[in-house]
Amino acid sequence: MSAGALPLAEPPRECDLVVVGAGIVGLAVARELTLRHPDAAVSVLEREPRVAAHQTGHSSGVIHAGIYYRPGSLKAELCVSGARALYEYCAERGIRAEQPGKVIVATEQRELAGLAELERRGSANGVPGLRRVGADELREIEPHATGIAALHSPATGVVDFDEVARSFAADLSGAGASIATGCGVRAISTSAEAITIAHARGATRARAAVLCAGAWSDRLAVAAGASPDPRIVPFRGAYLRLRPERRDLVRTSIYPVPDPELPFLGMHLTRGLDGDVQLGPSALMVGARDAYRLRRVRPLDLAQTLSWPGTWRLVGEHWRTGLAELRHGLSRRAFISELRRFVPELSTADVLPGHAGVRAQALGRDGSLVDDFVVSRTERALHVRNAPSPAATSSLALAARIADMLAGDPD
Ligand SMILES: Cc1cc2nc3c(=O)[nH]c(=O)nc-3n(C[C@H](O)[C@H](O)[C@H](O)COP(=O)(O)OP(=O)(O)OC[C@H]3O[C@@H](n4cnc5c(N)ncnc54)[C@H](O)[C@@H]3O)c2cc1C
Repeated sequence: MSAGALPLAEPPRECDLVVVGAGIVGLAVARELTLRHPDAAVSVLEREPRVAAHQTGHSSGVIHAGIYYRPGSLKAELCVSGARALYEYCAERGIRAEQPGKVIVATEQRELAGLAELERRGSANGVPGLRRVGADELREIEPHATGIAALHSPATGVVDFDEVARSFAADLSGAGASIATGCGVRAISTSAEAITIAHARGATRARAAVLCAGAWSDRLAVAAGASPDPRIVPFRGAYLRLRPERRDLVRTSIYPVPDPELPFLGMHLTRGLDGDVQLGPSALMVGARDAYRLRRVRPLDLAQTLSWPGTWRLVGEHWRTGLAELRHGLSRRAFISELRRFVPELSTADVLPGHAGVRAQALGRDGSLVDDFVVSRTERALHVRNAPSPAATSSLALAARIADMLAGDPD
């Protein structure tokens, strides 16, 4: 059995609460529901043979501290409280989570205003220990990095989100909830008494449903009668890894000052739990919602991206960034030269191929990249329609918020 693969549980015909999607968000939601309603029958329906098969199992593994997000946004609130809850959870369950910290580095004068804005946001969001450092202190933290100024976040951490998701799944099984894999959901219908979810292994009827389908969340929302706006557009993120003998180039994590127009944090260098240093991810719009291989194209995914008016507005506005990302996607030299701004010693000889993930990014009809988490309603259902980074960090807090919404008490 591969890591995360589950014994084939039978999907129930009837249950009280059903969650679709066994990524970290769906599992955290189901877990929260079992904790709040110990007598309720809770069931998770997952299309793949294992949990965490998509975004959750392909992330950077960073426990974000809450620096980037607009104060007052869901991301700001749920990242800070979610990170705290996640560290506590990992400590309780004996899951390795470390806090090596990170630096966000400005290499040019024109980035200083962006760095100041991040400092303002981080302080407003209550990020612990966040501090501005100069070039000398940056060198003490990251001896191989250069920059004219940086923000140091000692509270930023690393964890294996796949392991966290598997632990949530074990909690669920322990609480008597079922996780049925191989249950790709095909249709959703509601009546006065129930919601019925038709899937590859039959149909499950429940009082209420929470749909946490990541890159496919728009399709399930539309199937339940919701608006097609926003649509999910897949952005592939490719990584490289440092050769083991060059890992000393990075001690913690080194991030750029991100483009404030885009919801992505920019390519970074991250030291993971086992000392492995990942470089990336790039952010390239691709032709499949599971484009782990660059050449994978799924006609329906591609058609839905190309027929969406927002796609063309986005391309019209950000085509320069798009071209740069295309270069990063196709050329290792271009990828490395972007990161050499922060670590000048880095060369193409220092790296090995890495994994790739696909971000589920909600894109409005008007071309706006939806930044905040979005949870919307249809009859008897809640839909997580945008849960990009830092949703893995925030999963426990986001799950508590969703359970509040399900109880009809958002505050
Ligand atoms: C490259 C990359 C790097 C990232 N780095 C970080 C990071 O460092 N820190 C951080 O906090 N976040 C990070 N993120 C974001 C984080 O991974 C996601 O926000 C989080 O995993 C979202 O979880 P999810 O459960 O919503 O989605 P997913 O993990 O994608 O899970 C969705 C699940 O729904 C299932 N599903 C879909 N359709 C159906 C259907 N019809 N029927 C049944 N099941 C279905 C899928 O099979 C999947 O298992 C990163 C993401 C990417 C892609």
